[in-house]
Amino acid sequence: MGVLPRLVVFDLDYTLWPFWVDTHVTPPFRHASAGVVLDAGGRPVRLYPEVVAVLERLSSLGVPVAAASRTSETRGAAQLLELFGLQRFLQQTEIYPGAKTAHFHRLQQDTGIPFAQMLFFDDEPRNIQDVSNLGVTCVLVPAGMTLALLARGLEAFAGS
Ligand SMILES: [Mg+2]
Repeated sequence: MGVLPRLVVFDLDYTLWPFWVDTHVTPPFRHASAGVVLDAGGRPVRLYPEVVAVLERLSSLGVPVAAASRTSETRGAAQLLELFGLQRFLQQTEIYPGAKTAHFHRLQQDTGIPFAQMLFFDDEPRNIQDVSNLGVTCVLVPAGMTLALLARGLEAFAGS
């Protein structure tokens, strides 16, 4: 294992879960049976299958984690993080519309961690482009977050 980032940041929609929280599902969300989360229409909503394992891996490595999302459905997104049990992994969450560089400036100010010490995963090329320009190591997520993609991101960071 090479040099580790001091902060790993994840987008939410189509990075941790396979939908847009402001469009494809209907808040408020709730727990049904153990481990099942439903939207207001009674439809089950899920994380990508390896997300919890990815966050547990980072936790075991001692690397802090944050979430950065441009969704306008701020409350629904925060509720899902809670219901999915992800809040315990997240040192910080930045969830509001706007350019993703705004989220990263806030993360940098609040944590004191330089952009060059951060690793970011997102499914949208425009976010990858914008945040790369800040000096953050960025990895495009083509089909949801996986352990393999985490490993590739950590390698990219160590080699940067
Ligand atoms: Mg996304």
